[in-house]
Amino acid sequence: MGPGPSDIHPSVLAAMAAPTVGHLDPYFLKIMDEVQSMLREVFQTTNHMTMAISGTGSAGMETCVVNLIEPGDRMVVGVNGVFGGRMAEVAERVGAEVTKIERPFGEVFSPEEFAAAIKKSQPKVVGVVHAETSTGARQPLEEIAKIVHDAGALLLVDCVTSLAGIPVEVDRLQIDAAYSGSQKCLGCPPGLSPVTFGPKALEAMDNRKKKVSSWYLDIGLLRNYWGNNRAYHHTAPINMNYALHQALRLVLAEGLETRYARHHLHHSALKAGVNAMGIHYSVAADVSLPMLNSVLIPDGVDDAAVRGQLLNEFGIEIGGGLGPMKGKTWRIGLMGEAAKKSNVLVFLAALEQCLNKQGVKPSPGAGVAAANGVYLA
Ligand SMILES: *Cc1c(COP(=O)(O)O)cnc(C)c1O
Repeated sequence: MGPGPSDIHPSVLAAMAAPTVGHLDPYFLKIMDEVQSMLREVFQTTNHMTMAISGTGSAGMETCVVNLIEPGDRMVVGVNGVFGGRMAEVAERVGAEVTKIERPFGEVFSPEEFAAAIKKSQPKVVGVVHAETSTGARQPLEEIAKIVHDAGALLLVDCVTSLAGIPVEVDRLQIDAAYSGSQKCLGCPPGLSPVTFGPKALEAMDNRKKKVSSWYLDIGLLRNYWGNNRAYHHTAPINMNYALHQALRLVLAEGLETRYARHHLHHSALKAGVNAMGIHYSVAADVSLPMLNSVLIPDGVDDAAVRGQLLNEFGIEIGGGLGPMKGKTWRIGLMGEAAKKSNVLVFLAALEQCLNKQGVKPSPGAGVAAANGVYLA
C-alpha cells in the first residue's frame, strides 16, 4: 500500500517466468503487437506510435522530453510536486529553456495560470503531471489541453500513476505525448514505461534539426523495431514484456470503467475510515487521487515509528512524505491489485493500534466501522 511498486497478480509473476525467446522470435513479435494494441485501449487512443520503453517511468519521461525538445526550445512545466520538478530538470538537461510555473505541494494549477505562462514564453512543449504521486493531487487537464493547442504548442502529460486507475483519455483530450510506468496502477513490476505519441508530436520529431541526443531513447530508431521493420535496436527485456502483456490482459478483462470505479470505491472507504479516526487528507477532496491517498500525520505522532510498526507487525508498507511534505504526510497507495477491501480494513485496524501506541486514541473501531459503512452502502 505504498506509492508503487504495487502488488502484482500471481499470473503476472508467472508470465515473467516463461522461457525467454529471442527479441525477433515470431512469438515475441506477437506479444509486442498485442502489448501495443492493449496499451492503445488503456490510453484510449488510436495513436500508432504507442509502445513500451525499456526502463521505468522516468525513462518514459526522458524519452518524451528528449525527442520533443531540441536545445534552445522553450518548454513550460507545471511544478507542484516532485515529479513536475523532475520533468523540468530533465528538460533543462536536454537544453530546453524551461519556464516553471509553481504551486505548493498538494495544490493544482488553474487553466489561467497555464494560459499566462504560455502567453509569455510561447513554448514548443507544455509538460504537466496528471497524478502527482508525491502529493496525491489530480491535475484537471481538459481546459489546459485547449489552451496549449490554441497556442500551437504540444501537450506532454505524465500519466505514470493515473494510467489504469483514473481515466487517461489521450485522444479525447488531444494529448500529444504521454508516458506511464508499469508498476503503479497497471499492476506489473517496475521495468517498462508505456508511451504514446500523437501525429503532431511525430511531426515535431520529423522536423528536428538535430539528432536526438539519446541514442537509446530515440523514437525514430525505436519505431523501426516496434513498427513494421522489426530492425534490431536493443535487446528488448523479453520477460518484462510478458509481464506487461499479462497485466494489460487483466486490466482489460476487468474493464477500464470497472477498474476506475474499484479504485474510487476503496478510496472512499479508506477516506471515511481515516477521517473517522481524526486524520485529514492533505489535498482538497475534489482533486484527491483515489490511488494515492496523502494524509496529514497527526500532531505528536512519530512518522517513522508508525510506518515501521505497520511494516513489521502487519506487513503493510505505506509511503512517507516527499520534499517539503517529509515527516508531514503519509502516502497510502491503493494501486491496481492493492485496491481491495481486505487492504483497507486491515490497514485501518492496524493504524488504530499504531496510533494508540503513539498516545493518540481514536474512538475504538471507528475507522473500520466507517469504512464498512461505505462498503455496506
Ligand atoms: C513513479 C513516478 C515517476 C517515476 O517513475 P519511476 O518508475 O520511478 O522511474 C514519474 N512520475 C510519476 C507521477 C510517478 O508517480
